[in-house]
This record gives sequence, C-alpha cells and structure tokens, in this order.
Amino acid sequence: MDKDPRQELREIVGQVRAQLERQQELGLDHTELRWPERPAASAPARPTLEQVREDLGECTRCKLHSHRTQIVFGVGNPNAGLVFVGEAPGADEDAQGEPFVGRAGQLLTKIIEAMGMRREDVYICNIIKCRPPNNRTPEADEILACQPFLLKQLRAIGPRFICALGGPAAQTLLKTKEPISRLRGRFFDFHGIPLLPTFHPAYLLRNPHEKKTVWEDMKLLLRTMQQAGSR
Ligand code: URA
Repeated sequence: MDKDPRQELREIVGQVRAQLERQQELGLDHTELRWPERPAASAPARPTLEQVREDLGECTRCKLHSHRTQIVFGVGNPNAGLVFVGEAPGADEDAQGEPFVGRAGQLLTKIIEAMGMRREDVYICNIIKCRPPNNRTPEADEILACQPFLLKQLRAIGPRFICALGGPAAQTLLKTKEPISRLRGRFFDFHGIPLLPTFHPAYLLRNPHEKKTVWEDMKLLLRTMQQAGSR
C-alpha cells in the first residue's frame, strides 16, 4: 500500500531536522556554507599554476618589488583539496622563495601534520607575494595589485576548502573589516568554496594559549572535509 503522504512528509521533515542538528553540532551555519559549484559553461578556462606564475613575471606592479629578494609565489600540491592562505612572506621566505618556512611556518607545518597531512598534500600561499619592509602589515594598494594573481592561483588549484590564516588574509578574501577574533571558527563562502578563517601561526607563537582554539578550528575543518568526502 502507498505511504500516507502526511507520514512521508513528517519523515522528510525529521530527516532535514536531524541533518541540521548534525551541522549545528559541527558548528556549521548552513546558511553560510555552499559547496563548490560546477563552473558555468561561459566561465573562463582554468589557468595552470605555471601560466599564473608566467603572467606574474618579474612583477613591478607595486612598490614592494624594490625591497624583495624574490617573489614568493606558493608551494604544494597543484591539485590540493585544501589551500592555506597567509599574509605575506617574512625574511626567511624572502630568502628561500617559499612561503611559511620560518618559525611561524614550522608551526603551520606541525598543524598540517597533526591534521594527518603533509605540506606536500596541501597548497600554501599568501595574499601578497613580496616581503613588506620590516614585516609590516601589507598595505591596501599592495594587496590590490597582488589580488588578481591570488584569485587566478586559487582558480588554477580549484580547492574544495580554504583556510585563511590571520586577519589580513581573512579580511582580504572575505572583503570585510571584521577582526579575526570574530571571523575565526566558522565557514564563509568564497566563490562557492567553504573558507574557514583561523588565527595566524605567528600570533600563536606570541599567544601559545590560543593554540587550542586553532586546533578546535582545524578539527572542524577536518570533520567538514570528511563529510564532504575530501579526506
Ligand atoms: N607569515 C605569513 O603570513 N606568510 C609567510 O609565508 C610567512 C609568515
């Protein structure tokens, strides 16, 4: 015999409620989370990372070019499911040409490994690719000049998840001035990709008691990646 439609409706409502409760337990606000969409037929073709690097060239688009030793483009798996975006290269990164290799970088590597991954599994880059003098915070014109390359880099990789490290990265990607203390720990939509802001590893070096907060954020990220089948 056919099911009573009212009973069927009650069951569907029950299933939706259970799913929302599961999301809530994970700290996910379902209104903020959207899964990557298929590119529309008219979307521009995905560039490769090599093409993006070639377009960037020996960049002189902002004043930072005159201070740098070298451009710090990004490192890791070109098909990574997870991208970490930091702020700017520091002295070690400027010298070695690789993001997050100094003390903060070593802590980031430990975090990635504690998540059961290796640096080579993910992709790591910054919102700007040249070291600001004395490691000052990147200025608006520098961020703006670098932004098209960051966006193309992200389009080339096509990650399932992004983790923004610290205020400048999160604020740049989410176009907001909200402090990182208010942004961290929940997902936002970045062009269809779930983006989780958390504290910057350099902040953790100065405030080690916040390491547990970042670990909570990383556990949320891992659970959500697992749910999405990307771990
Ligand atoms: N801090 C950052 O934000 N990026 C790096 O590459 C190094 C330190």
